Amino acid sequence: MRARKVDQGAARAMNRRLILDELRREGPMSRTRIAQQTSLSAASITIVTSDLLAEGLLIEHPELARQLPRHPVPLGINYAGHHAIGMKLLETEIQAVLTDLALNVVDQIRVPLDGPTPDHVVAAARVACDHLRLTQRDPLTPLIGVGLAMAGIIDTARGVCVVSHRAGWHHVPFGDLLRANLGVPVWIDNDANAFATAERLVGRARQAIDFVVVTLGRGIGAAIVLNGQVYRTPRGGAGELGHVLTEPGGRPCECGLRGCLQAYVSSPDLVAQFNDAYPDVGVRQVEELLALLDASDDRPLPILQDAGRRLGEALANLTDLLDPELIIIGGEGVVVGDALLSAMQAAFQARHLPDAWQPDVLVDRWSDDAWGRGAAGLVVEHFFEGSLSWAVPPRPPHLPPR
Ligand SMILES: [Zn+2]
Repeated sequence: MRARKVDQGAARAMNRRLILDELRREGPMSRTRIAQQTSLSAASITIVTSDLLAEGLLIEHPELARQLPRHPVPLGINYAGHHAIGMKLLETEIQAVLTDLALNVVDQIRVPLDGPTPDHVVAAARVACDHLRLTQRDPLTPLIGVGLAMAGIIDTARGVCVVSHRAGWHHVPFGDLLRANLGVPVWIDNDANAFATAERLVGRARQAIDFVVVTLGRGIGAAIVLNGQVYRTPRGGAGELGHVLTEPGGRPCECGLRGCLQAYVSSPDLVAQFNDAYPDVGVRQVEELLALLDASDDRPLPILQDAGRRLGEALANLTDLLDPELIIIGGEGVVVGDALLSAMQAAFQARHLPDAWQPDVLVDRWSDDAWGRGAAGLVVEHFFEGSLSWAVPPRPPHLPPR
């Protein structure tokens, strides 16, 4: 009897996920259409949608029914019914957003860090979380959790930052630390994974099964989505595209190795390469390189084109390995613009394996809240697809001491 109960529970959970997934991808539809799309029985649809309506996760759309024959009332996800908080850890501040389940930003705040340690970050996260909760326009809308995205290798299942060269952290059980201080469910992940999660849930990759996201900026990151899921390993090290070799014995990288892709393509490294070549100019930001180009000063061009070529070749290598249907380029570094991105596209095309599928390479129009929305996506992903006991996420076991 007990096994039968467990099976029924598992089946209902699976059916919930199927229905929510279908509605998330395709938008509102009638119960009949849901049954056709999911191959679930009418009885299962009735049971599960009743539960989801009672929980406020679905709403009926009578205004859409009038346009359809026989007036079945379509069901849709109640995106406004719950809120999530997403935070991006930067070197000097936390960027935090409050979103609905569609990752629409309701409110946002930036909180400066007083220092680089986990305790400093927890303190800033607490300020951000308190502010966003206190100023919630509708304080009765439940907060389902907090997601935090940061650069580095993250063991997502255990909520541990294995290493972040930028933050100088090694084996920090940051998920536990944050959860204990914020008092809400918390998920942490690598920033590229978080960005890919948002693209998968509500972005341009919503209907893609296999795709890759590459992020440009302070570092170079990548996230791999296979069979509709972000590829996360227990070691957290997948997608470290910034540290693949592009130049044996080349420029030093923040990871301690030499010749990494990041050391040629990241925004600080573009600036450093220009300053090495033209020390008298004293450029500080990558935007200043663009300003030089706009002023018909072509000196940054070879550096940007070289970076684009290396990036394009790396994308071709990724494509040969993973066969993605789509590649999305995001991150604040996309402001480097046409010089780098054209060279990237050209190198990518030149290395294309003849007769193999060639994925579109889409460049994101970046906005500053995109990292935070991605981090909120970690929460929404678990809410829709994770354990149904989402309000009490499983506590990860502690890592053994190093
Ligand atoms: Zn490196």
